[in-house]
Amino acid sequence: MTDLRPFIAGLPKAELHVHHVGSASPRIVAELAARHPDSKVPTDPEALREYFTFTDFAHFIEVYLSVVDLIRTPEDVRLLTFEVARDMARQNIRYAELTITPYSSTRRGIDEKAFMAAIEDARKAAEAELGVILRWCFDIPGEAGLDAAEETARLAVDLRPEGLVSFGLGGPEIGVPRPQFKPYFDRARAAGLRSVPHAGETTGPETIWDALNELGAERIGHGTSAVQDPALLKHLAEHRIALEVCPTSNIATRAVTDLDEHPVKEMVRAGVLVTINSDDPPMFGTDLNNEYEVAARLLELDERGLAALAKNAVEASFLDADGKARIAAEIDAYTDAWLSR
Ligand SMILES: [Zn+2]
Repeated sequence: MTDLRPFIAGLPKAELHVHHVGSASPRIVAELAARHPDSKVPTDPEALREYFTFTDFAHFIEVYLSVVDLIRTPEDVRLLTFEVARDMARQNIRYAELTITPYSSTRRGIDEKAFMAAIEDARKAAEAELGVILRWCFDIPGEAGLDAAEETARLAVDLRPEGLVSFGLGGPEIGVPRPQFKPYFDRARAAGLRSVPHAGETTGPETIWDALNELGAERIGHGTSAVQDPALLKHLAEHRIALEVCPTSNIATRAVTDLDEHPVKEMVRAGVLVTINSDDPPMFGTDLNNEYEVAARLLELDERGLAALAKNAVEASFLDADGKARIAAEIDAYTDAWLSR
């Protein structure tokens, strides 16, 4: 079998489902921990690698929160954001919609205007210095309730940074029904933001219907359980509503028990626009290149198939038409050159 890894590594890619704090690699966490020596997080990269080896989901949450605790100043926010883009550039990610939870930072006392300035400064530097185009999705941490939803909508609509394109909803699904967030999504959508809630990761297809009907979802974060409902699959395919599939994450969180049983194949077979993403890559021991490798195996793809998958993400992105055409052309040129070596 051909080793597709070298092809994937050089393939220009777009990523649509990846979290800001969840992208902090051991290298970045070490830098942040060094800035805040009172934290319990180790600064030595070797010790950190061990720290990042998760025993179970509760341990993952614990580590995630300890990283959140390292982001205390606007300069921390800028550093995290720019360094995440550097990790993306190394994987030839040309465009990413990074999901940011501004509520976690503003509630901890970071000045909201300084927060926006920090991410925007990092975004402009990433594009100029690394060639990575970043856009933001501000998401509601569902577990924090309606106050957090109100605050996130206010920050998104009133302080709207230039790079903000969409509005999301994360956190647990069980016990956090989607419809209660409708007024906040209505406000964000009225302001021109696109709707991209997480849905159907840990609950059934009815949550995905709620995301579509109540929150006006234009893409679905995960949508793993869509395969349980043929009518839903048909609806998603007909309306070109993309699913943001994150295979390794689904295993790490036990949303799917075994990679070989991942429903991505059924999604593709039903004609749904499938995109491949990494979610919280270092925390799940993965990166986007690895997710493409997993997808190639599950979907039995060759180079052309992988290029088509990369173009799905470009199509489903909220980049402008010129930007989409440019990245799609880059993918084609790279693939043609690779196959005519
Ligand atoms: Zn996610």
